[in-house]
This record gives sequence, structure tokens and C-alpha cells, in this order.
Amino acid sequence: MLSSSLVPLLMIGIYGGTFDPVHYGHLRPALEVQQWLGLEEVRFIPSGQPPHRDMPQASVPQRLAMLHAAIDDQPGFVLDEREVSRAGPSYMVDTLDSFSRGPGSAPLCLILGFDAFLGLPGWHQWQRLPELAHLVITHRPGGGHGTDSMPEALRELVEARQMALHELKNHRAGGLVFVPVTQLDISATKIRRWVQEGESVRYLMPDRVIQIIQQQHIYR
Ligand code: ATP
Repeated sequence: MLSSSLVPLLMIGIYGGTFDPVHYGHLRPALEVQQWLGLEEVRFIPSGQPPHRDMPQASVPQRLAMLHAAIDDQPGFVLDEREVSRAGPSYMVDTLDSFSRGPGSAPLCLILGFDAFLGLPGWHQWQRLPELAHLVITHRPGGGHGTDSMPEALRELVEARQMALHELKNHRAGGLVFVPVTQLDISATKIRRWVQEGESVRYLMPDRVIQIIQQQHIYR
């Protein structure tokens, strides 16, 4: 069930990931989603212990330093350390639960690249996620974006919950939208490999992030 609100609500974007390292394929889509949805803020929430993949190569302080360097000068972009401060696997359902949900609180928009969305049925208590937030799915190069490539459970989710972008702010949670962000074929995997091989990663991420990688010899 979609819970609706009489007054349009300011919304907060929740952008989880390993950010190992953060790059323009994260930053530009986050900015476009912020603008399209009129989000009050976008919270970048680096995963402490990612439940579905290997531990990140960069340490927590290194990933936080790179994120600070990347987003601190962007109004509305916020680094949120709640998952790296929490013991145990970083389940998104716990993260969303940790935001207060009183009548005056801002609705949450969980931002997921299409690849992450396809993996959703493997996430801990994934069916609770739409009760806690809107789902905002961004296109990502290399993956189809149609319902054909989705498992049955996700097709049903889309059918039941998809709405127009402007409708999200009238509901507290439970909507689902696709946002056709600018397509940047950049991945952290490729960046780590290129750094290790001594190739330049300039123009894939902010220079300040590259400086930290070089100074601290990350991914070498
Ligand atoms: P890795 O290559 O290590 O898997 P990644 O580049 O995919 O990392 P993550 O930190 O795992 O980055 O991703 C966090 C979120 O950002 C996910 O929802 C993912 O879909 C999204 N994302 C990452 N890269 C892009 C991109 N180039 N375009 C759009 N979304 C992206």
C-alpha cells in the first residue's frame, strides 16, 4: 500500500555502495537524480561490510577520505558514516530503519543503479525496502533497462509500484521510478585495475580523489 501525504514532502536520497573508489559514474547520476527529484540532500553511505561481495580493497578511512574529497563542495551532498560505524553486515534494510519516520520526517529515496536493482531479490529482507523508501533506479551502461531482463519478482514490483517522478513527493514511501541519467561507462573495478597497472585514471573521477590514491598508494 502507498501511504500518501497531503503536503508535498522534501525528500532525501540514499546512495549506498562500496565507493572503492568513488567516481563520476556515481557522482553525475547522483546530481541528476537530486535535480530531477528536487532532493533536499543525497546521502552517500559507504558500506562497512558489504553482505553480497568481497570486502573493499581501500580501508574505511581511505574510502571516507576519497568521498569527502569528491563531494564536500557540492551543496546537498552529504557523507553519512552510519554503515561503517555499525558492526556486522551492512544491510540496507537496517540503514533505512535507522532513519526516523515520524510524521514530519523526510521520505527516503533509495537510489540504485540498474545492476544493483537486478540483484535486489538477494538482499536481506528486500521486500521491506519499499515500505521504508521509494526506489529510484538509474540506468547504467551495459545492462538492458526493460522488464525483460528482470526476474519475475522485480517485474511484479515494477508493475505494482512504478509512478511518475513528480508523484513521489506526495507519498512517504513505496513508489518506484526509473531515471534515465547520463550514461557513463565507468566502474570502480576498471579504475582499480588501471591504477594497479600504472595506467592513468584522469577524467574518470575528481582530481582530488586521484591525488589521495597516489599519495596513499591505494590499489597498488
Ligand atoms: P565495482 O566495480 O567495485 O563493483 P561500482 O563502480 O559498481 O563498483 P559501487 O560502489 O558498487 O560502484 O556502486 C554503488 C552504486 O552506484 C550502485 O547502485 C551502482 O549501480 C551505481 N553505479 C556505479 N557505477 C555506475 C555508473 N557508471 N553509472 C550508473 N550507476 C553506477
